[in-house]
Amino acid sequence: MGDRGRGIPKICRCGEAVVMNTSKTVKNPGRLFHACPFGRDGDWHHTFKWTDVSMYEELQDLIEKVDNMEEDSITLQKGVNTCEAEIETLTMETRVCEAVVEKEIRECKMQLRSLKNIVVLALVMIVFFKFMY
Ligand SMILES: [Zn+2]
Repeated sequence: MGDRGRGIPKICRCGEAVVMNTSKTVKNPGRLFHACPFGRDGDWHHTFKWTDVSMYEELQDLIEKVDNMEEDSITLQKGVNTCEAEIETLTMETRVCEAVVEKEIRECKMQLRSLKNIVVLALVMIVFFKFMY
């Protein structure tokens, strides 16, 4: 995080890397914080942030991201469902087309066989009439 000033700070305004420490004050004993190593008490030029505050912001941002991902996931699932339905329709159409083509091929073969028979019969008749006359 770090951008928008939310979450755990990484780099101080002065450019130094922020480090995590434990408070030893009477007011906040043992409380974790992230701070610039050059920062002093009350010095607002350097980064100082309580870690529990940072962590809360990090969690809020993560929850928002997860919510967005869930919405994206639902949208994607709807897209996948639409694609699957289209694939099913195309598969059925392909099967119908295959059946039509197979039927036409069978009819063509039958017509070809009939044509062959006619040609053979015609040849036999020609030969027969040639020898007879
Ligand atoms: Zn600093």
